[in-house]
Amino acid sequence: MVRENEIRENEVAVPPPQANDAGLVFIGTIRTPWTSRLICPRQGRADGPVCRIALFAPWDQALAGIERFERLEVLYWLHQSRRDLVRQSPASNGETHGTFALRTPVRPNPIGTSIATLVAREGPVLLVRGLDCLDETPLLDIKPDRTLFKPIAPPQPGDFETG
Ligand code: SAM
Repeated sequence: MVRENEIRENEVAVPPPQANDAGLVFIGTIRTPWTSRLICPRQGRADGPVCRIALFAPWDQALAGIERFERLEVLYWLHQSRRDLVRQSPASNGETHGTFALRTPVRPNPIGTSIATLVAREGPVLLVRGLDCLDETPLLDIKPDRTLFKPIAPPQPGDFETG
């Protein structure tokens, strides 16, 4: 937990990825049954097939404690997407919608998110249900489902601001 770049007792740092402007680092690979976009689910389902999220070292160390959460928010890079459409016609019927009014994979920054159910952890690999991405989709991040997570750090003034 870092508030002003400090390192605190028992915190563990690893060599950081090279800093570049808003650069992302792929921290693992997602293995799913789907090798074509034509058969991939449009949205993952809680009773869908078990998929494997394989973390690369050293990021596997960041899984410590994850077993406490039944559901995880998984973020991934929809690497085969085109990125240039601002209006899209999901039904191919001439009716278009703005990209940001859709959950389409075609977006300027093709980030996909799903709530996945954690089935098991096998070392650096998480077994989950609820994904909707192609096999070998790059992994961007994993967080506890926000409805299951309570901040561990003490509250601070902004937490009480309303209006
Ligand atoms: N659940 C995520 C979301 O809402 O952000 C993604 C939804 S997106 C509609 C899911 C579709 O993206 C799949 O049906 C497939 O057509 C496409 N897709 C999946 N993995 C992809 C990848 N690696 N590259 C490009 N497109 C992908």
